[in-house]
Amino acid sequence: MSSIKDNLDKINKQIIETAKSCGRRPEKIRLIAVSKRKNLEAIMEGIKAGAKHFGENYIQEAIDKIDKIGKNSACWHFIGHLQSNKVKFAVKYFDYIHTVDTIKLAREIDKQARKINKIQKILVQVNIGEEDTKSGTSIEDTIQLITQISTYTNMAVKGLMCIPPYFSDPDQARIYFQQLVRIKEKILNQKFETVSMEHLSMGMSNDFKVAIEEGSTMIRIGTSIFGSRD
Ligand SMILES: *Cc1c(COP(=O)(O)O)cnc(C)c1O
Repeated sequence: MSSIKDNLDKINKQIIETAKSCGRRPEKIRLIAVSKRKNLEAIMEGIKAGAKHFGENYIQEAIDKIDKIGKNSACWHFIGHLQSNKVKFAVKYFDYIHTVDTIKLAREIDKQARKINKIQKILVQVNIGEEDTKSGTSIEDTIQLITQISTYTNMAVKGLMCIPPYFSDPDQARIYFQQLVRIKEKILNQKFETVSMEHLSMGMSNDFKVAIEEGSTMIRIGTSIFGSRD
């Protein structure tokens, strides 16, 4: 079995190779190690091997781990579905929230962030495959949601996130990544003063190379770093 360090080294190499092959700068691509359902030791091993960004999906599980590891030991990304009653904790513990998809959720994040005098960095999750089973704002509603958020004082939109439908052939995800780039460009055209589109959070273990070719700046990798989740 390969170690977490071996896996991280391998993925970092693949990031560099893929970026170079399409004329991008590798340092523009952040590797987020998705540690959901993995224990403290796994995260510590990742940090020791140089991982700086971690993604978590479940608030209570994440709090337990972040309290022990230390908030400042890494950059923490919330990538799971966020319920309104957990927002307070997400805002307290996470540097980025990738999964903002409704005005109600955005308003609660703004409110909780104001209470602790924080400007919460967020990404808007787009349901790019328009799948009933997935979270995310519809493509059609994305601009409207961002227009609303742009008026909030304690949130900063930093980009978009998507989870395309799963294909065993990752090349089939390409059109979805391209679609997210088009939405990003549409938003840039609106010239919101307070909205940045510096990040596209797209690409997972199976399809991250294609996502990098299409402009991803944050790839979220679980299985290929930590092994399968049981
Ligand atoms: C679990 C998860 C990942 C990581 O998926 P892998 O296929 O294990 O790399 C990425 N993004 C989100 C939103 C996830 O929930």
